[in-house]
Amino acid sequence: PEAAERLEALVRPVPDYPEPGVVFRDITPLLADGDALASVVDELAAWTTADHGTVDLVAGMEARGFILGAALALRLGVGFVPLRKAGKLPPPVESVSYALEYGEATLEVRTGTVPTGARVLVVDDVLATGGTAAAAAALVERCGAEVVAMGFLLEITGLGGRDVLGRHTVEALFQV
Ligand code: 5GP
Repeated sequence: PEAAERLEALVRPVPDYPEPGVVFRDITPLLADGDALASVVDELAAWTTADHGTVDLVAGMEARGFILGAALALRLGVGFVPLRKAGKLPPPVESVSYALEYGEATLEVRTGTVPTGARVLVVDDVLATGGTAAAAAALVERCGAEVVAMGFLLEITGLGGRDVLGRHTVEALFQV
């Protein structure tokens, strides 16, 4: 709890961004703090190992999931797979589209980078409505792999993200 409070103090709430009524949680001050960054990665690694044993790969969502996911993969001694926004990866790719409040978004993974049967840990910075994370899980499963668990720095409660991810194990280092 004390550690969680220290992390939370390094996340800046930005009212009315990116649109009126939304409070955006800016994690860049936390990323810029070496001790905090190390403790986030250590805590996510410790939780993964304690609760789920070994994993084969870490997958992270563009863009802040790349930062935490790559660090965590290095810490766990496994590879990292980027789940990218549409049109960023050269073909062949697997795609999953999902609904946003207005319109639609797509996540893609390079075909063949997630082996069939792999045990995959999915990582992102923030769990909000769960739409992005649900699409990420669907993409990993589309590859024939297993989503072992989903780890986040921060969960914004009250948006139903955990319910959307219902059948998956979800861990967040702190909640707002
Ligand atoms: P969701 O799909 O759960 O509604 O939104 C989660 C995705 O949007 C994540 O990839 C996350 O990086 C981004 N996101 C949504 N809200 C915030 C926020 O307040 N702060 C940050 N840093 N990212 C957010």
